[in-house]
Amino acid sequence: MRYQVSNNKLEVLEKELHDREAEIELLKTTFSENLLPDETLSRLGGDEFIFILPQKDQRKIIKRGYDLLELLNTPFKVNETEIAISASIGASVYPEHGEDISILLSHTDSAMYHAKDTKLGIHLYDPELDKYTGQLTMTTDLYKALDENAFKLYYQPEINLQDDTLSSVEALGRWEHSKLGFIPPNIFIDALEQTGLIDRYTEWVVKTALMQIESWRNMGYEIKIAVNISTMTLNHESFIRFLKETIIDSKVGSYLIFEITENLFLAEYDHLSETLQIIRKLGIILSIDDFGTGYSSLSRLKKLPVSELKIDCSFVMEMIYDQDDEVIVKSTIDLSHNLGLTVVAEGVENKETYNRLKALGCDTVQGYHISKPLPIHLFNEFLTRRK
Ligand code: C2E
Ligand code: CA
Ligand code: CA
Repeated sequence: MRYQVSNNKLEVLEKELHDREAEIELLKTTFSENLLPDETLSRLGGDEFIFILPQKDQRKIIKRGYDLLELLNTPFKVNETEIAISASIGASVYPEHGEDISILLSHTDSAMYHAKDTKLGIHLYDPELDKYTGQLTMTTDLYKALDENAFKLYYQPEINLQDDTLSSVEALGRWEHSKLGFIPPNIFIDALEQTGLIDRYTEWVVKTALMQIESWRNMGYEIKIAVNISTMTLNHESFIRFLKETIIDSKVGSYLIFEITENLFLAEYDHLSETLQIIRKLGIILSIDDFGTGYSSLSRLKKLPVSELKIDCSFVMEMIYDQDDEVIVKSTIDLSHNLGLTVVAEGVENKETYNRLKALGCDTVQGYHISKPLPIHLFNEFLTRRK
């Protein structure tokens, strides 16, 4: 893992201390006191640190990263001045992401810049990402795709476990590139974020979803659509303006669910809270996506106008084989219910998992066991079959 301690608070700190070395020493002490016996920390130079941990499990790496981010975010005192700093973390795994130190470092580095750009705090190196960068003449291709309506939405059903009804669907973006073929959504979403086109894309998603809701209502189906909203977009005033103009009636809004990732909660809380209140007033339901993969404080979560929590598929997919995963799923369900939240489990791939989740009191399930994400014509066939 590689950190870059950033932000002007460090500059403030620098002024306070008149001595950069002292500041770095302080950071190092803070880290060192919190290291586990088999972890190593060293300073790479400047404000960059290397952190080595004997771990291959992606989830655990990310979790440990968030521990450290939390540690850094906890204000500490220097000469009576309270200081909190932020950092970005990039991570890579040996030998999967590189067999020698220079490759490993360079991949960790690009992951760190990605974490910084997307304000996600931490990012694990993704070879897929590398495969497409360079091939995509990104800006041009993405502009064209937006203009020519080349993006499509696929729909994946979410089934209520109590009464077996279909209450909502998740809209998932698809892009068939004219030369490169099918491009995975996390790749093109990333590219859209990097080129600043993500807001335009998300506005298209919301408009398309609203039209689809209307079309289903005309067919006699009341179905809510969940759309994924990138953290970046949520921070933009223009997107909130777009929502206010587009959703004139909160009745229409109440058919929309916004899925936001747990990582978002590392962002500035006051601003976020305000934004989410505005969105909620428009009737839109808020859901926390990928729950369990990041770091989020549940006491904070409780104060936000969130109604639903989606347990990340990485816990659900193995839960019938892995006792730890089942415990996590069970406690997340119980905890959510205590907080008045409904729970969706994603990544339900077989009947056994479906039954187990039902027994644990989970509210809603989504996954290949019910259906893969489908293009609209196939989804409508699915609807007719279920009738
Ligand atoms: P996500 O929001 O966690 O979406 C769920 C992903 O899990 C989808 O992958 C879906 O196809 C997959 N999935 C559903 N059920 C199962 C299952 O039973 N087993 C397995 N193995 N996988 C399952 P997909 O469509 O490739 O999307 C990947 C990610 O891309 C999404 O993760 C989401 O973060 C992002 N994404 C997709 N469309 C959009 C979009 O329109 N906007 C934004 N901001 N992000 C999007
Ligand atoms: Ca999602
Ligand atoms: Ca998810």
